[in-house]
Amino acid sequence: MTLVLTEPYRIKVVEPIRETTPAERDAIIREAGYNVFNILAQDVTIDLLTDSGTSAMSDNQWAGMMIGDEAYARCRNFINLEHVVRDVFGFPHFVPTHQGRAAEHVLFPLVIKTGDVVPSNMHFDTTYANIATSGGRPVNLVIDEGLDPQGEHPFKGNMDVLKLERLIAEVGRDRIPLVMLTITNNNGGGQPVSVANIRAVQAVCRQHGIPFFLDACRHAENAYFIQQREPGYQDVPVRDIVRQVFDLADGCTMSAKKDGLANIGGFLAVRDVGLYERICQRLILIEGFPTYGGLAGRDLEAMARGLLEALDERYLAWRIGQVRYLAERLQEYGVPILTPPGGHAVYLDARRFLPHIPQDQFPAQALAVALYAAGGIRAVEIGSVMNAHQDPDTGEWDYPALELVRLAIPRRVYTNSHMDYVAAVAGDLYRRREELHGLHIVHQAPFLRHFTARFEPVA
Ligand SMILES: *Cc1c(COP(=O)(O)O)cnc(C)c1O
Repeated sequence: MTLVLTEPYRIKVVEPIRETTPAERDAIIREAGYNVFNILAQDVTIDLLTDSGTSAMSDNQWAGMMIGDEAYARCRNFINLEHVVRDVFGFPHFVPTHQGRAAEHVLFPLVIKTGDVVPSNMHFDTTYANIATSGGRPVNLVIDEGLDPQGEHPFKGNMDVLKLERLIAEVGRDRIPLVMLTITNNNGGGQPVSVANIRAVQAVCRQHGIPFFLDACRHAENAYFIQQREPGYQDVPVRDIVRQVFDLADGCTMSAKKDGLANIGGFLAVRDVGLYERICQRLILIEGFPTYGGLAGRDLEAMARGLLEALDERYLAWRIGQVRYLAERLQEYGVPILTPPGGHAVYLDARRFLPHIPQDQFPAQALAVALYAAGGIRAVEIGSVMNAHQDPDTGEWDYPALELVRLAIPRRVYTNSHMDYVAAVAGDLYRRREELHGLHIVHQAPFLRHFTARFEPVA
């Protein structure tokens, strides 16, 4: 008998999916300015825009919502969450925030001075923008293999430690307030970072006295990859791997909308008590009292329970297995994808999918638009719309190495027959790819333009 991986849960509540016709979708995407962020959720058949905040909560989490203690200060749900954060991550100090970017927005202005440099393997888009608006310069130092969409390196999220040492030598330790490491590397394809690399980066930081922080949003998926791929970790429980990883860090920013299996929430954790006190002052100004940080008591409880559920190894095997399942179905249709697939999403390689569309006509955006028009599938562009940056002095555009369309899979929400449908739609588009055209921008904002930009098809 072959081993069939089955969902480690039963479905007890269902939400109907509305169907749309091709003609309806053509009108909808045109009115949306060819930006899938502007489409009504009810007009989407399979929503793979993000895995953030879109998880299905468990019966245990919903039960926790009912014991929300809505006291302003030191509610019991904060105490429960505090136990989890101390137990799982080992940080002595933390504050809840309403989501991950709020943790960034609290932290960076406290530690970054104008002209500072913040290295990472690869900054997520909100991290990049929060550093830049604090006067810092975000720098991506992922290994070269991490930029090769077809390389089979097991840890393509790793930071290039030599590049880090060179950067420190070049700009000086005093201009680097912290080093970050994103686990898994979302903008680089959801690729994991090995313990060996985390140790190596931490050693360089310690040698130079630079604080080392983790962008921890998908830390459980990262730990599962370590268990599966890194020599010496096969028999180490995921929970122990998580603790080993966080024991190396001085702090972390976390979005509980990912591996917290919650619909809202996040936290900022640190070891340094002086920094913690300054964090509390700023948190009160912009998020709330340090024991609720912008969240209701019931949300704190859902987060506390979700953070534990995300460490369940049967859940993680299913979760990562479903992402791999979609990748394999797409490959059967010949669709070019980033390999190996990451932890939370499959990334279509738009440069190979649409080689006839130049980068300044946004091939990945064009592909995201086509997926919606063809099958009501909503995915997100991670290419030039999101990651091209204009030099403020010369006005020149710096285009990213990767043009990707991310099919992010919400946790515990879709079944594999939904994945079969997605693969079939993408496969059909690939067969008639020459019919697709590029786009140009008719409206954009100065920061994070991908959320609100409007486009028109290139004639
Ligand atoms: C989602 C995400 C963030 C920001 O978290 P939000 O909860 O969306 O604000 C930061 N870093 C990474 C790597 C992420 O994936």
